[in-house]
Amino acid sequence: MKIPLLEPTRTYLACVGTSRDMARRELLVGAGAAVRKAGQALRRAAADGTLHGLEGDEFTVEGICTKDFVDWAYENGMQTVAGKRIRDALMAAPVDERCPLCWVGAVTQLDHVMPKSVFPALCVDPLNLVPACAYCNLIKGDTKPQSAEDALLHPYLDRISHTRWLHARTVWTPIGVRLEFFVAPPDSWDPTLVSRVTRQFTLLNLGTRYAQHANRTITDVNQMVTRLRVRGGANVVRNYLLGESETRFAADANSIEGVTYVTLSADDAYCHGPSATHTA
Ligand SMILES: [Zn+2]
Repeated sequence: MKIPLLEPTRTYLACVGTSRDMARRELLVGAGAAVRKAGQALRRAAADGTLHGLEGDEFTVEGICTKDFVDWAYENGMQTVAGKRIRDALMAAPVDERCPLCWVGAVTQLDHVMPKSVFPALCVDPLNLVPACAYCNLIKGDTKPQSAEDALLHPYLDRISHTRWLHARTVWTPIGVRLEFFVAPPDSWDPTLVSRVTRQFTLLNLGTRYAQHANRTITDVNQMVTRLRVRGGANVVRNYLLGESETRFAADANSIEGVTYVTLSADDAYCHGPSATHTA
């Protein structure tokens, strides 16, 4: 995803500048300098890849307690006409409304990369606000990365979608074939990046969520595959599955459907049909 072009101080003032409570508005506008400083520190750390090293006590706002500040600037601020426009623009950024943390859920909320309860001065900073699905936002909660290896991918800063890192294997069960997904990036990847993607996969329960998605694809494709087996045997089935995977991978190198199709195509028992299941 592209980094939002919204400027942090202007975004903040758009959120707090129309507060009807005069005294509160003055207090919030006066906090603009602290918000600007916080935004600069966030960008320095983002450029160095050291977001995990930021400490919350440098991101509080003097004279306003954290809860009040977040309520006023974020909760109320994003409900104002100008704030809502910013929120809508951030939420509308992902292609197909797909959550950029799990790549499978639908975007319904904004997630604070650096949690607002710990980093209040970043609560409306566009670089700190990423669209997310309810599941990811809930699981992530207020957690803050403790180390470089521990940091989830930042959808605006870390781009891994052009390289295939998602793979799966088939598992035969009494009710048919199932898929088990796993992370297997190329050897050229930096070990820290491998740790981060693995952590994201585990924390956000991606293996289970992707397997559910794959099961639906398998159910959808079973009838077609059965017809192709009768018509031309395993090779026709395999070619069909490979063709489907290529279409999906052309759009997304880690397409869950693409991985599902290519994994099924490599399973002889699946391509041959149920009678070959136990002899393959
Ligand atoms: Zn998600």
